[in-house]
Amino acid sequence: MQSTVVRDMDSLQKQLLALAKQNKRVALVPTMGALHAGHMALVAEAQKHADAVIVSIFVNPMQFGQNEDFDKYPRMLEADVKKIDEAGGALVYAPSAEDIYPPGFITTVSVGELGNILCGASRPGHFDGVATVVTKLLVRMLPHVAVFGEKDYQQLCVIRRLAYDLDIPVEIVGLPTVREADGLAMSSRNAYLSPEERKLAPKLHFSLVQTAGRIVHGNTPVSEALKDGIALLTTLGFKVDYLELREAGTLRAMDTFDAPARLLCAGWLGKTRLIDNISME
Ligand code: AMP
Repeated sequence: MQSTVVRDMDSLQKQLLALAKQNKRVALVPTMGALHAGHMALVAEAQKHADAVIVSIFVNPMQFGQNEDFDKYPRMLEADVKKIDEAGGALVYAPSAEDIYPPGFITTVSVGELGNILCGASRPGHFDGVATVVTKLLVRMLPHVAVFGEKDYQQLCVIRRLAYDLDIPVEIVGLPTVREADGLAMSSRNAYLSPEERKLAPKLHFSLVQTAGRIVHGNTPVSEALKDGIALLTTLGFKVDYLELREAGTLRAMDTFDAPARLLCAGWLGKTRLIDNISME
């Protein structure tokens, strides 16, 4: 079914009003576009939860650092809309930066320490950018449900936190990471990888699985397993940002394993930053 594409707040409000008048249950899937099977799994999940699905496509300048890949981030709205059409169609909201951040915009949403650890430590301000834009999207649309991927696990924790803290009446649904056949987590940034880097990239997931196995089944002390995991990735050619074991809900540090936990890592392969995580329940 053909999607309806709106590019600004007024057109969006008209569509939302029509949906509200029909008493439709609405699910939102926020994305930055360059849609792949991971995103489409979120759309399929959203369809299960609601009568109408909104997919937002916005490369959010506020969540990119100065030397990050905002300019080269892939943008392909037409191809994205085609994929959404093939999946049953949706209301696609693809705003301009001015539509989200009109002149004079100064307010930010910040989730404190939760946004400063892990990826927040290597990307200062990133989660303020994420929290601000997602808050704006949720408040603008007031969807019944919003669907996010566990691929960006810290982001999912940040969004659960802000929705709770700010009393935003939305159900946040998290979906498991969709992977390539060799284990690499699907990501729009995988397109940056050279053929050689692409061959190495699944090792990130492999090292998570191996490290988790050593902690749970091998009784290896957490600090030793993490140190060895980082050493393995470094030997393979990754520049590791972090490999850490955290409490699953709060992302608080954990010295000894206690379920439910999450093992998370981020590392660079050449000029591409990859992230991944797995559950340890
Ligand atoms: P992005 O376009 O990268 O900002 O991602 C938009 C949404 O898709 C976020 O909720 C991501 O966590 C989710 N997502 C991205 N990649 C995957 C994946 N491989 N599996 C599941 N969800 C994903």
